[in-house]
Amino acid sequence: MDSHPHGERPARTIGHFVDGQMIEGRSERYGEVWNPSLGTCSARVALASRAEMQQAVDAAQRALPGWASASPLTRARVMFKFKELVERHADELSLLIANEHGKVISDARGSLQRGLECVEFACGIPHLLKGEYSDNVATGIDLYSMRQPLGVVAGITPFNFPAMVPMWMFPIAIACGNTFILKPSEKDPGCPMRLAELMLEAGAPPGVFNVVNGDKEAVDALLDDPRVRALSFVGSTPIARYIYIRAAEQGKRVQALGGAKNHLIVMPDADIDLAVDALMGAAYGSAGERCMAISVAVPVSSRTAGELVEALAPRVRALTIGASTDASSEMGPLVTAQHRDKVRSYIDLGEREGAKIVVDGRGYQVAGHPDGFFLGGTLLDDVRPQMRVYQEEIFGPVLSVVHAQSFDEALALPSDHEFGNGVSIFTRNGDVARNFTQKVECGMVGINVPIPVPLSFHSFGGWKQSLFGDMNQHGTEGVRFYTRIKTVTARWREGVKPGPQFGMPIMK
Ligand code: NAD
Repeated sequence: MDSHPHGERPARTIGHFVDGQMIEGRSERYGEVWNPSLGTCSARVALASRAEMQQAVDAAQRALPGWASASPLTRARVMFKFKELVERHADELSLLIANEHGKVISDARGSLQRGLECVEFACGIPHLLKGEYSDNVATGIDLYSMRQPLGVVAGITPFNFPAMVPMWMFPIAIACGNTFILKPSEKDPGCPMRLAELMLEAGAPPGVFNVVNGDKEAVDALLDDPRVRALSFVGSTPIARYIYIRAAEQGKRVQALGGAKNHLIVMPDADIDLAVDALMGAAYGSAGERCMAISVAVPVSSRTAGELVEALAPRVRALTIGASTDASSEMGPLVTAQHRDKVRSYIDLGEREGAKIVVDGRGYQVAGHPDGFFLGGTLLDDVRPQMRVYQEEIFGPVLSVVHAQSFDEALALPSDHEFGNGVSIFTRNGDVARNFTQKVECGMVGINVPIPVPLSFHSFGGWKQSLFGDMNQHGTEGVRFYTRIKTVTARWREGVKPGPQFGMPIMK
């Protein structure tokens, strides 16, 4: 893992952030961090050993009593300060994201903003943690409930949102009084490490927020450590399923979000121009590396299909593809050469399976960036449900068009698919839209919007193979996930009848 293809070692080594400090890795195992626009290795990242992860859990455990007993207002003030710091450093953080992930700067900035919205939500924690109180439930007896933190909790996150997805998790977990270990993607750890420094600067005591870089070994150490009470995961479905089963087996609370295949239904009455604009952004933004990317367009009726493909094709061909830091780029490269090759192999597969390649992104070259991990926007028509290009997540700039002849046929496609993350419908008919939202088997539904990503004060999560666990991320579901309820029944002297009572107590 630690060899560089050209022999020389990258200038920068990224370690871990534990107990309020940047520390070097000691495992002698490293991963590579690439600049996908240039195709060069920009850093190596330490991959933590089991023992190093256990030391991070030690630090989080030591910080726990002080942090859990800090008042919610104190914790909220750290979040207010953190929000201010992230805003002040937004340009630097966005550049880190763009340079390591490859998404264009405006998109990186937008994803940071969506993460910040979760910090803003966490600033309201005193209100969110208010319990329930019932006065005088029986003579002289009051009953109340409170939400208490779980303890040390951890988040394991994917490469495609190195700031936003961690920010779905740690601000709420920490505001609830837990201490947190983040195991970000080893492909783009730069931004999470800066967020850890900013949390410390914002006033989070050492050990409250730790970032440990690593791979399966680090994740398994989290799964096996009984002190880690809850795990939040976002990534691909096979790993989500693995994390869910292993964590649940150990009695941990777990929410594990997996992959997606999001459909956008275009009804015959839809405004085609609006639908095409939506598809361009949702299919090709961030080079399709979004769990809420639209990867399947479903025009209903042959006429709608003809109009849609005719309008889409020239737009896909005209996409401005370039370096993520180039302000004119609409789409950047893919995250690694390996991922670019995998996406390209799906286009080959689609061709073999009989899909019609309307726009072919294979072999796309960006002037001045011969080594970048670029792929052109690709449009596949006549894709059928039995094809693997339809069934599997591609996670790249490839949009498949699947034809439907009726509303029911269109409704069945996302509903019968193994993934159930997001879905959208474009129509001007309210009855159709309502019928669709009621019946479709997906967790997040959009009506005339391209990507139905709920805001921070609602919660995020799919259905079926897109989420394992009972609770979604962020919003009040997030607060519930990171706290446990304690219910207290209290009686004071008034109303106490002397002498023991051996029957089941009943309230009078
Ligand atoms: P991934 O599953 O490869 O990796 C996610 C995390 O798991 C990383 O931190 C990685 O280090 C770790 N990991 C990888 N292999 C592991 C193993 N064998 N054992 C333990 N841990 C392991 O996902 P990725 O490629 O980084 O991200 C892309 C995927 O994430 C896509 O499938 C995408 O749909 C999904 N995603 C889903 C959502 C959602 O909200 N549902 C959001 C973003 C991304």
